[in-house]
Amino acid sequence: MALIVQKYGGSSVADADRIKAVRDRIKKTVDAGNQVVVVVSAMGKTTDGLVGLAEAVSANHNQSLTEIAAKEREMDLLLATGEQVTIALLSMALQAVGQPAIAMNGSQVRVVTEPYHTRARILYVEPDQIKAALALGKVVVIAGFQGVAIDPETGEPSTEITTLGRGGSDTSAVAIAAAIEADICEIYTDVPGILTTDPRIVPKAQMLAEITCDEMLELASLGAKVLHPRSVEIARNFGVKMCVRSSWLDDAGTVITSPRIGTGNLKSLEVNRFVETVSIDYDQVKIALLQIPDRPGIASQLFKSLADRGINVDLIIQAVQETEGVNDIAFTIPQNQLQLAEVVTRGLEIGASLVTVDSNVAKISIIGVGMIGRPGVAAQMFTSLAEAGINIQMISTSEIKISCVIAATDGESAIAAIQKAFNVPVRSHQACEITSDENSSDISPVRGVALDRNRARIAVQQVPDRPGMAAKILEQLVEHNISLDMIVQSQSDRDVNEIAFTVAIADLAKAETALKQYAKVLGYGEVSCDGDISKVSIVGANMIHQSGIAARMFSALADADINIEMIATSEIKVSCVVRDHQAEQALKVIHQEFNLSGDHAIEVPSALKK
Ligand code: ADP
Ligand code: ASP
Ligand code: MG
Repeated sequence: MALIVQKYGGSSVADADRIKAVRDRIKKTVDAGNQVVVVVSAMGKTTDGLVGLAEAVSANHNQSLTEIAAKEREMDLLLATGEQVTIALLSMALQAVGQPAIAMNGSQVRVVTEPYHTRARILYVEPDQIKAALALGKVVVIAGFQGVAIDPETGEPSTEITTLGRGGSDTSAVAIAAAIEADICEIYTDVPGILTTDPRIVPKAQMLAEITCDEMLELASLGAKVLHPRSVEIARNFGVKMCVRSSWLDDAGTVITSPRIGTGNLKSLEVNRFVETVSIDYDQVKIALLQIPDRPGIASQLFKSLADRGINVDLIIQAVQETEGVNDIAFTIPQNQLQLAEVVTRGLEIGASLVTVDSNVAKISIIGVGMIGRPGVAAQMFTSLAEAGINIQMISTSEIKISCVIAATDGESAIAAIQKAFNVPVRSHQACEITSDENSSDISPVRGVALDRNRARIAVQQVPDRPGMAAKILEQLVEHNISLDMIVQSQSDRDVNEIAFTVAIADLAKAETALKQYAKVLGYGEVSCDGDISKVSIVGANMIHQSGIAARMFSALADADINIEMIATSEIKVSCVVRDHQAEQALKVIHQEFNLSGDHAIEVPSALKK
């Protein structure tokens, strides 16, 4: 007998017939001798409909930050109704075929969360009631996506309803699986499993039988909405076995593999320690090309030439420039490839006004799980470096790692500052944590391609080049709980920098207001916003073992005449910002470049119905 958590997404329970189909699957699992806890989403597009209604009755004038916060509380009350409809219906459907069942909403179960509306993190799930109902032979049907806020004064659950953020039912399911120590958490959806990309855009996307947690975390946080990234974080931290399958088929689906035994604390499910180690790599040289023309093909030409000579480029950062029509690109390479890289770079005729080389650099990184969703972690890293008087030259972020390029001479004090801030051990650079399989040459270095159309870009211009500025800018956003990624910092001349990053489009107005408020105090210039961009990314844990992967991505875009406006890389991913109207084409050409398509089209039953 196994204890199984099954989560059914919106399309799997979209109407009465689908609810009955799901009921049959649950019944079959119980009849096979298992105990089953079910977590469900709202039916079909119910949540979108509720959001639409909220917008229709809300003021559309520029809202203050307090007005936004007030609206968020009522929004949670509204959105939480969607899942409640499904649990009641599914439980009735089970009872109708003689299967004892009980429906419970988030507050009845006590899925206790932080007191932050619309994006609450789960603190703990009370397992006792669930276990008691299971012991009575019942299927427990729980509303996903919702919880009840903790009262910060008493430390006890309050009566305030919270939601976890769109797509959050996956996270509810894995959290519940961790709390009741389930044998497996099965996520049922409308595709056969995790694919190389979204089959609604590339129908011949291919199934992956397995994917590592690290890769899945990146893919999910870079826009592959098949899983809520926080669900993968919990699975990784608590060693929850997880798979993704279709609720229309009996196929095995995709297994999410985790290299570790869970060590998390069940009393703080989603607010565990997220920084696990710090590492420093002194084997780095930084090359920067300033003021190169902003047109398709430049990045491709540069990185292809470097890849052709076998030069392993590590971090790449390209940022927008205040001066229209030009960009800066900076990248790091290992010390022993400097001479060759310098010859290649200087020999290229791509119109850079200046090429600079700096061998006095080191890359310091913090490694953990789920840092993007917690803007406070990056802010704390930047603040601790600033307090030690250390200037940050380049920044690169990913879901599992934040790296800063600093002067090598600052290395030791940087390590000390970060160890103190996060109370973590130092790991040698080589021992860094990304799980990959160096020996499997048949695994494509690129496992998946993701598109995020819900991002907007913000550039803060003329930021004084002194320690602490990146931290101060981030702090404004942290205060309003705004998550950002793809932070890139470029130097437009000797005294000022530009810091650009992407935020969720829904947070754009809030972020702009917050940043503009502090422009004078902090001494930076204009804050420019662009909501018309998308982010396309490739992910693969084996990318680090091959040179030229980024170059191939840039070439594919250049060949399709797609301009890259920002680049950010880490060991496990490369992301490019492109114009939104070219986003789908960008995804298709990249998927094609890495030969990721299979030989048949994937059916998405819920899309066929429309
Ligand atoms: P659910 O309602 O079951 O939670 P979602 O709509 O949240 O389902 O997620 C499933 C959808 O995710 C699929 O229909 C597909 O369009 C999309 N998707 C995006 N990227 C991928 C990917 N790499 N693999 C599988 N599905 C993906
Ligand atoms: N119903 C919620 C949403 O649509 C949560 C979920 O489906 O995961 O975002
Ligand atoms: Mg979903």
